[in-house]
Amino acid sequence: MIEQGKDTIVLVPEISLTPQTIERFVGRFGDNVAVLHSRLSYGERFDQWRKIKNGKVRIAVGARSAIFAPFNNLGLIIIDEEHESTYKSSMNPKYDAIEVAEKRCEQSGAYLVKGSATPSIESYYRSRNMDIRLLELKKRINNKRMPTVKIIDMRDELKVGNRSIFSRELHRSIIQNLEMGRQTILFLNRRGYSTFVSCRKCGYVVKCNECSIPMTYHMTENRLKCHYCGMVTVPPKACPNCNSRYIKYFGIGTEKVEEYAKQAFPMATIKRMDVDTTSKKGSHDAILSKMGDETIDILIGTQMVAKGLDFKNVTLVGIIAADTSLNLPDFRSSERTFQLLTQVAGRAGRGDFEGKVFVQTYNPNHYSIQCAKHHDYLEFYQKEILLRKEFNYPPFFNIISVVAYGEDRDKVASRIEQVHGLILKNIKRNRLYNQKSELIGPYPAPLERIRNKYRYQILIKCPDEDLNNFKSIIKWVCILNKYGLDFNGIKFNIDINPNSIL
Ligand SMILES: [Zn+2]
Ligand SMILES: [Zn+2]
Repeated sequence: MIEQGKDTIVLVPEISLTPQTIERFVGRFGDNVAVLHSRLSYGERFDQWRKIKNGKVRIAVGARSAIFAPFNNLGLIIIDEEHESTYKSSMNPKYDAIEVAEKRCEQSGAYLVKGSATPSIESYYRSRNMDIRLLELKKRINNKRMPTVKIIDMRDELKVGNRSIFSRELHRSIIQNLEMGRQTILFLNRRGYSTFVSCRKCGYVVKCNECSIPMTYHMTENRLKCHYCGMVTVPPKACPNCNSRYIKYFGIGTEKVEEYAKQAFPMATIKRMDVDTTSKKGSHDAILSKMGDETIDILIGTQMVAKGLDFKNVTLVGIIAADTSLNLPDFRSSERTFQLLTQVAGRAGRGDFEGKVFVQTYNPNHYSIQCAKHHDYLEFYQKEILLRKEFNYPPFFNIISVVAYGEDRDKVASRIEQVHGLILKNIKRNRLYNQKSELIGPYPAPLERIRNKYRYQILIKCPDEDLNNFKSIIKWVCILNKYGLDFNGIKFNIDINPNSIL
């Protein structure tokens, strides 16, 4: 593209997760690269934007919003890790960077390349229907072998009396790895110390005052935090419900893994990388450079350690609990689990030494886990696509989520009831009713209250040919309010094919 005098946009899922990717582009193409992401100051962002606009660079690398890089002669858009949910903005303005990319390519005649080791079900489905051309890399770089993945049934550990968060085999392998001077990554997709706090006498669970979700205990600060709205409180000494003193902390987060690892492997240098340890500017890079010069033996972290990291000396990966993402009530939970396990596993054995991965789970036979073990994307796809078809989920049907929210619970409930009735009435008038489209709800959303707003939801499943009709109806009823409903104090969140239906 550079030889042809054309411009290229390269998208990465999230800047903080992929500093190595950016380094590589800047390292290879130097001054020809502009970098765009939300951590830049307005001044820095403007400088980068102007370089692009004035044709001073031919390549723009960045997160989601870089898709709007103002090139005049676009030749190519590359979307790395195309399956990542971060490409779709779930806040206003809601847009899907991949959809925007497709439109820009259509307008400029540019090529679009989507890359992934675990393509989204939707993308792979399109490639099978010749809508997208499929190009496969069947071998790892330099013909390296895939790491060996071993699944550990944690129920067996309990049976032999091992109550530790480390299975016997993982524990042994970490010791061996330390003795050989190699590095280990431990992954858990939950931050904090304990994931909920509950009374043993009456069962009361401490929840955020503003949101209907349990609060997470963070030991370093000795505080309870709400991971939705950020609310922070002091942990109660007695149960707010029955006054009993039997308050117990349940569940494990990365902070607890760190504490237990320090006890189990006192000779090791251990660091944790998650939102809580990387909020200061430069702290993220500092941890990565210590990983690079091998002064860290064990790195513990959330999704942040799952993606993009490429360290030659990492030969062991331990997934502490593979079930955390599997049990979410969302149709994408199997897909997310498979992608996450595959990605984390891929951190092991990227150098000259063979990699080993341990997956600890209570669901050893689930197809997401089994397919990840065998590095078998195709088998996973074949199982998952059948379920999607059976239950009318994407890519066969679109999902439209309409959430009404407001502080007055009764009002939200009665308005969504009216909206539901009006949508139904319009469906009948437009003769959509006999189609396969489905209207589900209204019901309290799975996250019933966030930031003191009650949330009620309607889900619509519809085939492509009905999508525009439904969009018009929803716009007519909810946005233009053509029926003159009292929407005072009520807002709507409308999302088409959302990342998550929670
Ligand atoms: Zn109690
Ligand atoms: Zn909250």
